[in-house]
Amino acid sequence: MSNETRQITTAFQKLALFWRASQWQAAGGAGLNPTQGEVLQRISRRSARLGELAAMLGISQASLSDTVSSLEARGLAERRPDPEDGRVRRIEATAAGRRVAADLPQAPAALERALEEMSDTDRAALARSLVGIIRALQEADAIPVQRMCVSCRHFRPFAHADAARPHHCEFVDAAFGDASLRLDCDDHEAAPAGEAAAIWRRFETA
Ligand code: SF4
Repeated sequence: MSNETRQITTAFQKLALFWRASQWQAAGGAGLNPTQGEVLQRISRRSARLGELAAMLGISQASLSDTVSSLEARGLAERRPDPEDGRVRRIEATAAGRRVAADLPQAPAALERALEEMSDTDRAALARSLVGIIRALQEADAIPVQRMCVSCRHFRPFAHADAARPHHCEFVDAAFGDASLRLDCDDHEAAPAGEAAAIWRRFETA
């Protein structure tokens, strides 16, 4: 490992520690652990099947089922039959669960401030680099498949001449720039493998 790579991995390690500590503090304030808080935030945005949610979070279905059971016991979540298949259950937040989730921060406030203080150019470059790292980890099967723009069938990289907002999302029919690239979009629809590879090549080489 080069010295430069070691410095960057050390930075990621420090950020991971900071993030985890912040999650314990924020979720703990609501009487939850970080996994319970994360699950509650996700199902308050959109209901999900157990398997789908476990894959997104990169945890086993058994472990997730325990988490959901503890949220159910507190009246924050419930399992309902899936309208598309009555044999399957979808997990959703109750009204009380949505209220608790709304009070949980999406990210540590100090980190948000640090990112907001960056220049637009630096923030866009960071977002682009992170997308590349996360995609590489996904390609190596090191992390679960992410609902990212660069693997979405609605994503049109460099569809516009505007350097600040060169990309286009066909789902919302809007242009956007690198800093707004999504890494976990609820509207994501996976592009077929060949199409996803072409999208990535266009994004990476333009
Ligand atoms: S639907 Fe979401 S993931 Fe897909 S291109 Fe639009 S913003 Fe990106």
